[in-house]
Amino acid sequence: MPTEDTIADKLIELEPDIHESLERASTFLKFPKKLETYFAELDTPKRRKRILLLGLGAIILFDLFCIADRFMLPDIYITAWKIRLGIITPAMCFFLVLISINKLNRFIDLFAGSLLLLTSASIVWFLILSQHPNVVHYYTGIILIITFGNIVVRVRFVYAFGFSIAILLLYVFSIDLVSQMPVEAADNSSLVLLTSAIISLVGNYQLESEIRRDFLLTLLQRISTIKLEETNRKLEQLSISDELTGTANRRHFDMTFEREWNSATRNEYPISLLFLDIDFFKSYNDNYGHQAGDRCLKKIGEALNRNIRRSHDLLARYGGEEFVVLLPHTQMEEAFQIAENIRIHVENMDIRHSFSEISNQITVSLGVASTIPKPQTSSSYLIEQADAALYKAKNNGRNMVVCYNAPV
Ligand code: GH3
Ligand code: MG
Ligand code: MG
Repeated sequence: MPTEDTIADKLIELEPDIHESLERASTFLKFPKKLETYFAELDTPKRRKRILLLGLGAIILFDLFCIADRFMLPDIYITAWKIRLGIITPAMCFFLVLISINKLNRFIDLFAGSLLLLTSASIVWFLILSQHPNVVHYYTGIILIITFGNIVVRVRFVYAFGFSIAILLLYVFSIDLVSQMPVEAADNSSLVLLTSAIISLVGNYQLESEIRRDFLLTLLQRISTIKLEETNRKLEQLSISDELTGTANRRHFDMTFEREWNSATRNEYPISLLFLDIDFFKSYNDNYGHQAGDRCLKKIGEALNRNIRRSHDLLARYGGEEFVVLLPHTQMEEAFQIAENIRIHVENMDIRHSFSEISNQITVSLGVASTIPKPQTSSSYLIEQADAALYKAKNNGRNMVVCYNAPV
C-alpha cells in the first residue's frame, strides 16, 4: 500500500507531464509513459468492475434476442438458439473471466473488443444461415452492439476504432453470402452501420478526452493541496523555531514550558531548567564581527543539541546569546550533570576567543533550577531561580554550572 508521502512524491514528479498533457489537450488520448501508467493504475480497477457488470448485462440482452429469433428467423431459430446459448454465451463468459483477471489488465480492451466482434459475428452468421426475408432487418443488432461498445462500455478509443472497422469489414465481406439480401438493402445497411460506427466513435473520442482531462485536473488539484499542506507545515515549523540556530524559539519554549509545568504539577514529577549564557560574548562580537558571532551561536546550539537526547526535552534560544533547556522528569542532580556535560562540550570545541577575560576560547555559564511544582506556584518561579543561578555562575567567575540554592 503506497503511503501518503510516496503518492505526494509521485504526483510532484508527474506535474510537468500533467501540464504538458493539459496543454496538448490530450489530443492523442495518450499521456507520457509514466503518467499513462499511473492513469491506468488508478482507472483500471474501476473500469474492470464497470465492464464486468456491463458484460453481464450484455449477455442477458443478447440472449433476450432469442425471442426475436423465434419470430424473425422462423426457419433457423433453433439453430440460432443453439448458437446464442451454446457457443456465443459461453464465449462471452470466457472473455468476462479473462477481463476479471488482474494480471491481464493490459488486455481488458482487447477482450472487451473481441467480445463485441464475437457477438457481431454471430449475427452475421444468422444472416448467412437464414433463408427468410426478415433477415434484412437483422443488421440493426450490429448497430446496437457497436453503440453499446463505443458509448456505454467505452472501450478505449484505439480499440473502439479497430474493432468497429473489423465489425464493418466482417459485415461488408459477408453480405454476398446472405441469400435474402437485395443489393439495395445490402448497400443501405452497410451505410447505416458505417454511420453508426462514425457517430459512436466521435462520442467515444469525446468521452475519453473528457475523462483524461478530468483526471489531469484532479491530479493538479491534489498537487496544489499537497503543496499548500507542505507550505503550512513549513510555516508552522518557522513559527516555532529560531532561524539562526534551528532550535525552538522563545514562543515555542513559553508554550511548552507552561504545558509541562501544568502536567508536572498535576502528576507531581520533577521538572528542571538550564539557562545558558555565553561568556564575554559581547567582546567576541566586537572583535571577530557579528557574523563570526552568529556562527559561534550556531555551534553552541549544536553542542546543546548533542547533549539533549530525550524526546520530551526541549532546547530553545531564549534570546540573544542565551539558551534554555527544559527537562521534564528530571531531578537537580541529573540536570546538573547534563549542564556540566554541555559546559565541557563547549570548552572542548575550542572556539578561539582571545578577548575573553577568563580563557582564550569560548566558554559558557549555566544556571540550573529544579522543582516538583505545587499547584499554587507560577511557572515563572523556576525561570527566576534558573536565572538567579546563572547570575551567580557569572559572578563566581563564569565557565561553570551553578545550581539554585546549592553551594558552588
Ligand atoms: P557575560 O559573560 O557577562 O555574559 O558577557 P557578555 O558580553 O556575553 O554579556 P552581554 O549580555 O553584555 O552581551 C551579550 C552580547 O551578545 C551582545 C551582543 O553583541 C551579542 N548577541 C546577542 N544576540 C546576538 C546575535 O543574535 N548574534 C550575535 N552575533 N551576537 C549577539
Ligand atoms: Mg547575556
Ligand atoms: Mg553573555
